[in-house]
Amino acid sequence: PLPLVLVSACLLGSPVRYNAIHKRCDSEVLARWLAQGRVVPVCPEVSGGLPVPRPPAEISLGAGGAKVLLGQARVIDRQGQDVSDAFISGARHVLVQAQSQDIRVAVLKEGSPSCGSGYIYDGSFTGQRMVERGVTAALLESAGIRVFSEAQFVEANDLLLRLEAGEAA
Ligand code: SF4
Repeated sequence: PLPLVLVSACLLGSPVRYNAIHKRCDSEVLARWLAQGRVVPVCPEVSGGLPVPRPPAEISLGAGGAKVLLGQARVIDRQGQDVSDAFISGARHVLVQAQSQDIRVAVLKEGSPSCGSGYIYDGSFTGQRMVERGVTAALLESAGIRVFSEAQFVEANDLLLRLEAGEAA
């Protein structure tokens, strides 16, 4: 069967971001995947029960998603509300969905406290980036699912093609 790929719903044009807008991505690779029926849309924050719109959230003070999953850091929204449980539950929901469909590749929205894979914001709500993963990206990677950003559709496609050819175990 054709390997499927998880894609952040906001990159597909769903207005599910905290500010109720989308970040639709103009990618030839994505258009091809959509035509092939390979794309499984996910939004961990909505799956975790958070509303749209919602206050923006960041992982507290210099930590990444892995620490949130271990209970060593929290996700706090700009109003000071602890939303860690919703982030963790959304991440688990996405992982179960991926595993139930044997999905090994994801392209998730960069910079998000859930979906970010190359950077997230540092918890100070001042726009400072740091090299870390969001909660869902960290959980997926710990389960062996490769997470790419929307700047890496080509790399993600290379891996998919290798999986399809049975070359990547
Ligand atoms: Fe997009 Fe991920 Fe945020 Fe949902 S949680 S809006 S999919 S970046």
